[in-house]
Amino acid sequence: MPTALITGITGQDGSYLTELLISKGYTVHGIVRRSSITARGRLDQLFHQEDVYNKRLFLHYADLSDVTTIRRILLKSTPDELYHLAGQSHVGASFEIPETTCEFTAMGTLRLLEILRDLDKQPRFVHISSSEIFGRPDQSPQNETTPMRPVTPYGVAKAFATQMVTLYRESFGLFACNAICYNHESPRRGESFVTRKITRAAAAISMGLEKTLSLGSLDGRRDWGYAPEYVEAMWRMLQQPAADDFVVATGTAHSVKDFLAASFDAVGLDWEDFVTQDPRYMRPSEGTHLVGDPGRASKSLQWTAETRLPRLAEIMVQSDLDALLASRQRADS
Ligand code: GDP
Repeated sequence: MPTALITGITGQDGSYLTELLISKGYTVHGIVRRSSITARGRLDQLFHQEDVYNKRLFLHYADLSDVTTIRRILLKSTPDELYHLAGQSHVGASFEIPETTCEFTAMGTLRLLEILRDLDKQPRFVHISSSEIFGRPDQSPQNETTPMRPVTPYGVAKAFATQMVTLYRESFGLFACNAICYNHESPRRGESFVTRKITRAAAAISMGLEKTLSLGSLDGRRDWGYAPEYVEAMWRMLQQPAADDFVVATGTAHSVKDFLAASFDAVGLDWEDFVTQDPRYMRPSEGTHLVGDPGRASKSLQWTAETRLPRLAEIMVQSDLDALLASRQRADS
């Protein structure tokens, strides 16, 4: 049975990918950053399965800047596939911490590629890139050949990493792919991303726990898909005869207002009665017209995004309602 190594295993995508690979019979190794808070809630379900944790799922501590440790983990785990998901992934935060963003997202990827270059047994490699590399593109929808014009520190760091992956594939013959993922959401999305912030607030407001929701610009449009489907595309890329880059997207853009309407509709409320705008959440600049053309993924990987708005918002609101109800019951008992 194959072995996979995942950087960023504790994140939204890492947890769904781990579940997918475990269900396919893989042994999974994950790299975790040591911190004083254990942020492993998304993997909880797997930890509690006796035949999985420390039998087919192993965690290792390392920072992406810790080359020696990462090399040791690679030499010990000898993975067939390496999924590189880790990085500072919040676009808004990247304006506050551009150096950290570049350190992890850009240099972290280059360091991994350098380690792979020296290995005798090189795993198949996929870097989870982002639509932010396109920034303000000339063409819409974007595909794998659209020029990169990033307009955020995160986008610039991702563009560097993406181009390095292509360079190492072409120059050193690595089986290295870029999954150019558009926004993908789920109940496991971090609460500071706009979708989850909205669905959590819609649930809390409908239960009378909160009164308003404070947001930044409502003009942005995003191509929002469902994260569990996106990790399936990542896996399919590594099963191809040759490495390539793939846009992973739904092909349809919606505005933040559309997401608000779908989420508040799910609880029978009108978002305009509750949303206020706060300059704190506005960004110095942002990408526009980001919508992906998933044609290559559809043709070569036989992959299409199934779950879209409003269904996506309904799934997330329902999960937030369930979680708030459960915590209220715990508090009452
Ligand atoms: P990303 O920036 O595309 O990775 O995803 P986000 O979920 O962080 O933001 C999506 C869009 O929502 C962007 O256009 C943001 O400017 C907009 N937005 C509006 N209000 C907020 C907010 O309060 N938080 C975040 N994260 N985004 C917001």
